[in-house]
Amino acid sequence: MYRILGRTLLVAVLSTIASLVISFAFVPMMGGQVAGAGLVMTIVCPIAISIPASLVHFYQADRLRRANAALAEARDALEKAYARLQYQARRDSLTGLLNRAAFMDEIAACSNEGMHGGLLFLDVDYFKSVNDRFGHAAGDEALHLIGAALHGLAREDDIVGRLGGEEFAIFLHGASAERMLDHAQAVREAVAAIDFRSPSSIRIPLGVSIGAFHCAPRFDPVEALAAADRNLYRAKSAGRNTIVA
Ligand code: GH3
Ligand code: MG
Ligand code: MG
Repeated sequence: MYRILGRTLLVAVLSTIASLVISFAFVPMMGGQVAGAGLVMTIVCPIAISIPASLVHFYQADRLRRANAALAEARDALEKAYARLQYQARRDSLTGLLNRAAFMDEIAACSNEGMHGGLLFLDVDYFKSVNDRFGHAAGDEALHLIGAALHGLAREDDIVGRLGGEEFAIFLHGASAERMLDHAQAVREAVAAIDFRSPSSIRIPLGVSIGAFHCAPRFDPVEALAAADRNLYRAKSAGRNTIVA
């Protein structure tokens, strides 16, 4: 408000000075004299006109400025919300890993780039009994810890996802068959080493069975996952907590 009043006053002063300069320059040329009532009108007119006009103008300009600032703020918040939604749409909320659709998209992109790699399909062993014995919340905690272990072992280019339930998948970008098996072994050991405890602090051992499949360049993502799943089934049949490639 003070800014509007200040500017209005400034315009009034400048208008009055301009009015005086014009009057003193032109009235004598026309044979007249700036004095008395004429001088009063030279001063009063610009003040009487500029003050209301400036008040309206500066008030509207201020409203417009505030509206623009609010609009920019709203657009900023919207952009952030959109980015957050886009991120969340691709993530599993429990583990923060990619969800199934996003995982498949990412490995399809690798395939399209002609990239080869190792695909690991993991299923937590006897997970239903974790839920049954210690509750669903404890089961969720176990999934969260497993997700963190998988993420911790992965390289920057590797793709890690939770496909659903207690099933996870990892695509080892550009990995040889040897690195794929080494990584599967490291994952199995890392999961077995997780210090997962029940609400009453009893340590609950966790295990995963892993089906591995080495993907050649231009692999079919659905076929590759099905092949890894077949190996996972074999790993389960072989007694669990094991790897089949
Ligand atoms: P197997 O060794 O043969 O894989 O046995 P399993 O018990 O792990 O397999 P099963 O398919 O019988 O059970 C999977 C369980 O995973 C059942 C379901 O309650 C549980 N589960 C799936 N999603 C979630 C989840 O988001 N949170 C929790 N806590 N449990 C889940
Ligand atoms: Mg399962
Ligand atoms: Mg299972």
